[in-house]
Amino acid sequence: MHFKARAGQKLADVILQDNLKKAKSKFVDRRATAILDLDDFEATRDSATALRDRVLNDLDLWLEKFEQQAAKSGASVLWARDGAEICWLVIDIAHRHGVKKAIKSKSMLSEEAGLNQALETAGIQPVETDLGEYILQISDNEPPSHIIAPVFHKSKEEVSALFARTHHLPAKDDIQALTREAREVLRPHFLSAEMGISGGNFLIAETGSVALVTNEGNGRMVTTLPKVHVVITGIEKVIPTLEDLATLMRLLPRSATGQSISNYFSLLTGAKQAAESDGPEHLYFILVDNGRADLVGGEFAEMLRCIRCGACMNHCPVYQAVGGHAYGWVYPGPMGAVLTPLFTGMQNALDLPQAATLCNQCGVVCPVKIPLPQLLLKLRAKQVEAHLRPFGERLGLRAWAWLALHPALYALATRIGVRYLLWLARDGKRNDRIRVLGVAPEWTLGRDFPAPEGKTFRELYAARKETA
Ligand code: SF4
Repeated sequence: MHFKARAGQKLADVILQDNLKKAKSKFVDRRATAILDLDDFEATRDSATALRDRVLNDLDLWLEKFEQQAAKSGASVLWARDGAEICWLVIDIAHRHGVKKAIKSKSMLSEEAGLNQALETAGIQPVETDLGEYILQISDNEPPSHIIAPVFHKSKEEVSALFARTHHLPAKDDIQALTREAREVLRPHFLSAEMGISGGNFLIAETGSVALVTNEGNGRMVTTLPKVHVVITGIEKVIPTLEDLATLMRLLPRSATGQSISNYFSLLTGAKQAAESDGPEHLYFILVDNGRADLVGGEFAEMLRCIRCGACMNHCPVYQAVGGHAYGWVYPGPMGAVLTPLFTGMQNALDLPQAATLCNQCGVVCPVKIPLPQLLLKLRAKQVEAHLRPFGERLGLRAWAWLALHPALYALATRIGVRYLLWLARDGKRNDRIRVLGVAPEWTLGRDFPAPEGKTFRELYAARKETA
């Protein structure tokens, strides 16, 4: 959780810095083009925002409705309070059905729970089948660095070397050839696994269905080939109707990957019936709280609108500079800087609310209008209230607040301060002198401390008023 230390390492990582440059053309430009073909993009954002708020206001009712409808179509709905309960439930289901191997499609909740490690400990082999997640799994279970592009931090050359080492095949330098190789390695796992585990983008209450948005065919195979399918998703993913799904689907692929529609879109309802030839014989939904219920109706409730598109991180100057691993947990970027302290405890993610410039790029692009900068500011205020900020910082802010309430003293103090800075800057060595005082030590290593103009703002303002 030490964002500052990690960020320093990531900034010095030349390969990572090169890979991060892809963000603009891969996500930012594509999104900008994709939203142009939607005449009513802003109106759709408004509808989606209102829709998400409406559901969250009656979350319990929609969840009950979903549970009833899912049960009618032959699925079982289970509830998990936290990551430990997710693991326990999945392992219990696996044992009941004699599962030895589980193939997985992308699921952020399984990352929250550390499910792969728990399955391995229980003697069940987890196999990631999303190409990005598979690459991470064979890279010593590295965590994802982006919520929709988990290996965003790796170059083609790194993946090529990794495949050659792991698959004992000649190295390939062509992306299509690498993808084909991964397919050939994964195909036997698809055919032999007894269980499929997936996430879910949305749960539809009126039909008891789960909607899956993917760009690789693996999601379809994970959810239909094995005899058991387990969907793990957060309780906030429920929406009332298929019509609501259509509204959100106009925004999600455009905001995420700049596509008007993803390569695959699956709507799965119920277990396989007697007259059907495809689908799992047993379907389980594990609906997870893990800190979400505490946010309902509270001052951070807007965060539950999130549809996990990743647009906020793609447009964030901090994410673009340090990548996802610097954030230290499952969710990076501005949404992670809000969610991680809320889900894991503020004291465990002290740097994250500060890891933002508050430029509001994230707020501008968020398809469900989550006011991320305001939420980050609220978290900063909470840190101060809970005495979680360093003593020196608190003391400084308190002194500044006191001075600001006493204008005459404030004017005197700023005048003395500026004179002192001018004295420090009397030759070209102000950075060294300022560092000795312990002021902005890291900042001044990379750039010059600004030279004071000679007069305070108040003095300049007063002079201007006189001449006006
Ligand atoms: S906070 Fe908004 S922009 Fe960021 S992932 Fe969630 S929905 Fe997308």
